[in-house]
Amino acid sequence: MISGVMKRCAAARGVCSGRMRHGSAVLVRLAVVLSLGWAGTASAQAAGDPAPRPREKPVVNLPLSTAASGCTAQLLEAGAVFRATPSPPAGALGCGIDDPVRLDSVAGTVFRPRAVLSCVTALKLVRFLQRPLTDEVRATMNTDVKTVHVAASYACRGRNRQAGAKLSEHGYGRAVDIRGLTFADGRRWDVSPRRDNDRSPAARLQRRVRALACGPFTTVLGPGSDAYHDDHFHFDLAPRNAAYCR
Ligand SMILES: [Zn+2]
Repeated sequence: MISGVMKRCAAARGVCSGRMRHGSAVLVRLAVVLSLGWAGTASAQAAGDPAPRPREKPVVNLPLSTAASGCTAQLLEAGAVFRATPSPPAGALGCGIDDPVRLDSVAGTVFRPRAVLSCVTALKLVRFLQRPLTDEVRATMNTDVKTVHVAASYACRGRNRQAGAKLSEHGYGRAVDIRGLTFADGRRWDVSPRRDNDRSPAARLQRRVRALACGPFTTVLGPGSDAYHDDHFHFDLAPRNAAYCR
């Protein structure tokens, strides 16, 4: 079924939609365009591509084998709306992303701004949202997640933005910072320093999200971890023998 979707996407030469059946019908939209977003615009034009119209990015077809392979196919099956993007330049720090995607939304929940992540990290985030996070928000706040506020995703920099520090997992597209959520009922919830004995729903949700993320993600940092994480959660997939959560 995926190949059928891909063929329609290829024919459309751009953002497209298809219906896949995996238990229940799931409406999926996949951008099979490769956005020349980092530094590729000039080179594409030099190679003979027509100049883009104002405010419209030039696009090229993403090879079907890439779009339908492994992780990307799973992300598609999960119902995510995303766009494959070229890997950013490595720069002096040696940054880079395996199978990079720009994640837009899943099942009506949007990521804002869109998160640039490795496909594996995006898939982990989507599954975390779909299951434990959504369940916890329903249990604690009696509503659903409408918007995930992303404080950072891919960024080629040292840890905690410190010059000379070891390259952050953000530099590999394996980390995402979450600032807060907006719920379907319009309420906003922000990550912030809260006392351990705070019994409010907002504080309970913060403690639960933190605990639930430890395991699916190998690093979980937030308020109280250090001075850099008072207003967001940092989740990453750094290769480790055991999760590091504090
Ligand atoms: Zn971070």
